[in-house]
Amino acid sequence: MVPQGGNTSLSGAATPDHSGNAVVVSLSRMNRILAIDPANNTMTAQAGCVLAALQEAALQVDRLFPLSLASEGSCQIGGNLSTNAGGVRVLRYGNTRELTLGVEVVLPNGEIWNGLRGLRKDNTGYDLKHLFIGAEGTLGFITAAVLKLFPLPKVTAVAWVAVGSPMLALQLLANLQDHFGASLTACELVSDISLGLVLKNIPGTQQPLSSSPWYLLIELSGSRDDKALDESLENFLGAALVQASVRDAVLAKSYAQARQLWALRENIGEAQKIEGMSIKHDVSVPISRIPEFIERADSALLKNFPEIRIVTFGHIGDGNLHYNQSRPTKISNDEFIAAQAEVNRIVYNIVHELGGSISAEHGIGQLKCLTLLDYKSPVEMAMMHSVKRAIDPLGLMNPGKIFPVNC
Ligand SMILES: Cc1cc2nc3c(=O)[nH]c(=O)nc-3n(C[C@H](O)[C@H](O)[C@H](O)COP(=O)(O)OP(=O)(O)OC[C@H]3O[C@@H](n4cnc5c(N)ncnc54)[C@H](O)[C@@H]3O)c2cc1C
Repeated sequence: MVPQGGNTSLSGAATPDHSGNAVVVSLSRMNRILAIDPANNTMTAQAGCVLAALQEAALQVDRLFPLSLASEGSCQIGGNLSTNAGGVRVLRYGNTRELTLGVEVVLPNGEIWNGLRGLRKDNTGYDLKHLFIGAEGTLGFITAAVLKLFPLPKVTAVAWVAVGSPMLALQLLANLQDHFGASLTACELVSDISLGLVLKNIPGTQQPLSSSPWYLLIELSGSRDDKALDESLENFLGAALVQASVRDAVLAKSYAQARQLWALRENIGEAQKIEGMSIKHDVSVPISRIPEFIERADSALLKNFPEIRIVTFGHIGDGNLHYNQSRPTKISNDEFIAAQAEVNRIVYNIVHELGGSISAEHGIGQLKCLTLLDYKSPVEMAMMHSVKRAIDPLGLMNPGKIFPVNC
C-alpha cells in the first residue's frame, strides 16, 4: 500500500516501485478541518487537507500556521507530516515535526491509533507520533493531526543583501540573531550563479543590486508593537555597510517589492529546470560548517568536472543547502548524467565527513535508499529495521521506500 498525498515528493516516495504489486491509496478526499481552537493555538485537520487551505483557515482566526513550501498549493498535510517537511520558516518555527502535537494513524493491521492530543506537555512514555512523522508512509496511514498555530505576525520587513562570501553570510546571520532574536523568520543564501539563472530564465525578474558573489534574503516579522521593524532593519544594514560586512542592501518598501525579492529565491528551482539537466543534492551540515562545505565541495567538483555549473542556495539558518549542479553547456545530457554517481559520491562524502545529512528535507524515498546504506551506521539501520518489523511485520506499507527491497 502506497499512501499518496499531493504527490509532490522529490524522492519518488509516493509512487509504487517496479514490483507491480502495490496499491496507491490517495488521502485526497479526507480533506476536512475537524477543529480549530484559537485559545489552545491548535488546529485538527484530516491528512488530505492541502497545506495552503490550512494556512488560509488559520488566517481566518487571526493565527499563523507557519509551514510554507513552494508546493503548498498541492501538497497535503499528511504528506508534509510523512516527509517532516521543512521550507523557508524552519529557522523561526521549526519543521513539521516541531509543529505537530498529535496524530491519528491507521496501522498496517487495520487498528486505529487515536493520538489526537493537543498537549504541549505529555511525558507518558514513548512519544510515538515521532515514529510516523518522517516515516514516508512506511509504518501506517496518518489520517489526521493536531497542529500548532501561532500569533499572526502583524508587520514584516524583507531585505536583499549582497555579501562577499559564505563566511560573511554566516557572520551576518549570527549578528541578525543577536540583534533581532525570534523576529528573524527566514534567512536564505543565494549564490550569484543561482540568481543569474533566475534573471535569465524567469520573465519579469530584475537584478535588485549590483552583482556580488553571494546574497542573503532576510525576513523579519513581529507583532503590532514592532511597527519600526523596517527602520530597525535599515539601521542594522546601514551599520553593516559602514563596517563593510555587507557590500550593498535593498529593503522592500511594499508588500509587492517583498514578493519580488522572494520570487528571486523561490524561482531558482524552476530556472534551473529551464536551463536543462541538473544533478541535485538536498544536504545539511552544522550551520557553522556551511562555508567549509561549500569551499571543499566546490573545489572537489571543479577539479573533477571543470566545466560544471554549481547552483548553491538554501536555508543557511537551518544548515540546509540545495547544492545542485547544472549541465556544462559543452556536454550532452547523457554525458552529464553518466557523471551523476561520481558527483554524488564527492558531495555526500564531504557532507558525511562534516557530520551532515544526505537528505535534509526531501526524505529518502526510492531515490536515495541505496545511498542511505553508505552513510547510516549499521546500528542505526538495524534499529530502523526493528521498528519497521515491529509495526509492519508483513511489509505492507510503501515497499521499496527508505529500505531497499530485499534489504
Ligand atoms: C516545487 C516544490 C517545492 C518543494 N519545496 C519543499 C521545501 O521547501 N521543503 C520540503 O521539505 N519539501 C519541499 N518539497 C517536497 C514536497 O513538497 C514535500 O515533501 C511535501 O511535504 C510532500 O507532500 P505531499 O502531500 O505531496 O506528499 P506525497 O508526495 O504524496 O508523499 C510524500 C511521502 O509521504 C507519504 N504520505 C503521503 N501522505 C501520507 C499519509 N497520509 N500517511 C502516511 N504517509 C503519507 C507518501 O507515501 C510518501 O512517502 C517541494 C516540492 C516541490 C514540487
